[in-house]
Amino acid sequence: MAEVTEKQVLAALKAIIDPDRKADIVSLGMVSGVVIRNDHVSCAIQVTPERGPHMEPLRKAAEDAVKALDGVKGATVVLTAERDVHGGPKGGHAHPQPAETAPLLPHVKSIIAVASGKGGVGKSTTATNLALALSQMGLKVGLFDADIYGPSMPRMLGIEGDPVSPDGQTLLPMENYGIKCMSIGFLVPEDSPIIWRGPMVMGALQQLLRDVRWGELDVMVIDMPPGTGDTQLTMSQTVPLTGAVIVSTPQDIALLDARKGLNMFRKVDVPVLGIVENMSYYICPQCNHEAHIFGHGGAKAEAARLECDFLGEIPLDIEIRETSDRGEPIVISKPTSPHAKAYRQIAEKVWEKAQAIIASRKGPKISFE
Ligand code: ADP
Repeated sequence: MAEVTEKQVLAALKAIIDPDRKADIVSLGMVSGVVIRNDHVSCAIQVTPERGPHMEPLRKAAEDAVKALDGVKGATVVLTAERDVHGGPKGGHAHPQPAETAPLLPHVKSIIAVASGKGGVGKSTTATNLALALSQMGLKVGLFDADIYGPSMPRMLGIEGDPVSPDGQTLLPMENYGIKCMSIGFLVPEDSPIIWRGPMVMGALQQLLRDVRWGELDVMVIDMPPGTGDTQLTMSQTVPLTGAVIVSTPQDIALLDARKGLNMFRKVDVPVLGIVENMSYYICPQCNHEAHIFGHGGAKAEAARLECDFLGEIPLDIEIRETSDRGEPIVISKPTSPHAKAYRQIAEKVWEKAQAIIASRKGPKISFE
């Protein structure tokens, strides 16, 4: 079956009428960012922030209309709240704003998502130490905390204060230990949880990615929200990911949580660089004895079975928890420790693979005469 075209998607969306403005959402210039990948379609509908909460039925109708198209296996439509929904700067003709259609993160050479099937497996700890280890390899690194339900980067990187906006439009990233970082945690106080409506999440994340002056980066590490739902899927479709790293504990691998993550990325054609087994074994702080509480080596075998690489294992060790919880991740505070070394080995593997993927995308240099 031929792949659906953007034209067909827009034709289907023309049937969706904005109840307030009594015209279709395409003519009103509300649709942007149509991405078609592997028979999955994603796009955004721009609304003003105050209308956001009432637009869920419209979003759903749009998603259903796209899903109903021949050749479409899945569709994700998100609502975004933009500053100027009505098009041109002086209220002129509705047309897509260049900032919305421009590719995300054009000056970032590679983007690595760190994901997990569920929360609490050490995804953020791994993302942080991985980013710092990449930086120690001499790379320019950014760390984007997309875990908006529990942003932990301000704490893990020991950064306090508010990001600065020199022009009122863009934000300067925060910095510590030589890496740039942005997190919703810098923008909202820790004790004021935001109730996120699913569709608003992607809008907020995209806006954060776009509006931060990351500058030129060799690699951006994204700490994904935990799980494998719509947010994660949309994120994987809209951000040009080079590859994904799945973090799992030994018991979750057995419970198939890691497999869900793997399948999600494969579905949207994002290469899975491999699995990291976290809390792989326990090191007793008293006697340094290694205890294999959850069994050991399972991830390696499971990775092989899933035809996915095994990137390494990190033990359950109180030093890892203490250092990251006090904002001095182990790669920084104990660089010669075996755990820091393990993170660096993982980083080297990740970087090698990312480079290979980028090179293969540029196409072979060999020409046949
Ligand atoms: P997630 O991002 O998956 O929710 P976190 O990285 O926030 O998980 O980790 C949850 C808790 O477990 C944190 O307190 C963290 O310090 C701790 N932790 C993570 N990995 C390890 C480890 N290998 N050894 C000890 N504690 C760990």
